[in-house]
Amino acid sequence: MKNVAVLGATGSIGGNTLDVIARHPERFRATVLTAHRQVDALVALCMQHRPELAVIADPALEAELSRKLTAAGVRCDVASGREALATAASGNLCDTVVAAIVGAAGLQSTLAAARAGKRLLLANKEAIVMAGPLLLDAVAAGGGALIPVDSEHNALFQCLPAEGLAGGKPSLHKGVRQLTLTASGGPFRGRNRAELAGITPEQACKHPNWVMGRKISVDSATLMNKGLEVIEAHHLFGAAPDLINVVVHPQSLVHSFVEYVDGSVLAQLGNPDMRTAIAHALAWPERVNAGVAPLDLTACAPLAFEPPDLTTFRCLALAFQALRAGGDAPAVLNAANEIAVEAFLAGSLAFLSIADVVDAVLAELPAQAVVDVQTLLERDRVAREAARRILRNAC
Ligand code: NDP
Ligand code: MG
Repeated sequence: MKNVAVLGATGSIGGNTLDVIARHPERFRATVLTAHRQVDALVALCMQHRPELAVIADPALEAELSRKLTAAGVRCDVASGREALATAASGNLCDTVVAAIVGAAGLQSTLAAARAGKRLLLANKEAIVMAGPLLLDAVAAGGGALIPVDSEHNALFQCLPAEGLAGGKPSLHKGVRQLTLTASGGPFRGRNRAELAGITPEQACKHPNWVMGRKISVDSATLMNKGLEVIEAHHLFGAAPDLINVVVHPQSLVHSFVEYVDGSVLAQLGNPDMRTAIAHALAWPERVNAGVAPLDLTACAPLAFEPPDLTTFRCLALAFQALRAGGDAPAVLNAANEIAVEAFLAGSLAFLSIADVVDAVLAELPAQAVVDVQTLLERDRVAREAARRILRNAC
């Protein structure tokens, strides 16, 4: 029996994770559930899954959570605050942690799970983008395993040889020529810059193939999501930037592929449903039913592939730039992007200006070496401040 902490239980990945867990009560138990502010949604999940502990990140909502759980007849411990998230992720109520908080807010709990030697199922890509080497060191020191949940990385994980994966310092297998991440292209594939001028948050959040949280939906529309994933792949698989390639594949059926020096190409295919990657990561190295419809290649549209348009979707080029700059440049890129996306979702920044804000912050804060978590968090704070100032001056 695996005891699973679902960090970000009220989100899209959290919900899909709990769906897979509920299909296999003899294998998995959700022992810890967390949310940020959605008390009612968290209470509903607690009624269904009966965890040992519920954590609400916003301390002001702890009393309300306790009251509502009691009224609903749920008896579990309640905690609140960022520290409580890290404590829950590293404590003995769980052996497996699904890191599904969105953004830099998930970094500390993800690191805590890694240090404590948990089996870490990583969806929170911003954590590894910010703190790649620190996170991998923590996994190695803790003696646990890191299994990617992001569908592209989960696909690569499945297509790479087993040795060197899931713990310790990764290094790319000598026989690998290239890793290729597929991208759907998002809702605006094929459009030029002029056509993207008046894009609204609602349009950007309408992804053609996946239903996801709002932040990652915007990242998918700008292609920053693919940029973050390139950085994620670099860290997870020890691949140099030049060995990572991106192709647009609008059907989202081929989730990524590995090309070997002998000309073999191994790909992982499946319907676009995150439960496949989640079930794979939960059960690995075994396999369990994810509740996903079988892929019928005779019934689906022909598979198409095309190069990404880096002139229109500048965020992908900026992510490669940050990866090549090294050090804390990816953390700066991530922080600036989080602030810019927030502003776009709030209606105060144009879609195309997200890239302008990220570009300006990267130019203002040249890469520095990553020393430790404290200096990284300070750099994150400074980059956010710079992004907010740039936004104020632009208005
Ligand atoms: P959602 O926005 O749907 O959910 C985010 C979750 O994080 C919610 O439970 C939310 O709580 C919680 N949360 C938000 N802010 C904070 C905070 N400051 N402190 C603590 N908890 C917080 O996001 P997704 O599920 O779409 O994405 C989660 C992560 O997984 C992201 O990093 C994303 O990039 C990655 N990912 C997602 C995929 C997807 O298909 N959705 C695919 C691949 C990766 P509340 O509900 O209370 O706000
Ligand atoms: Mg992905």
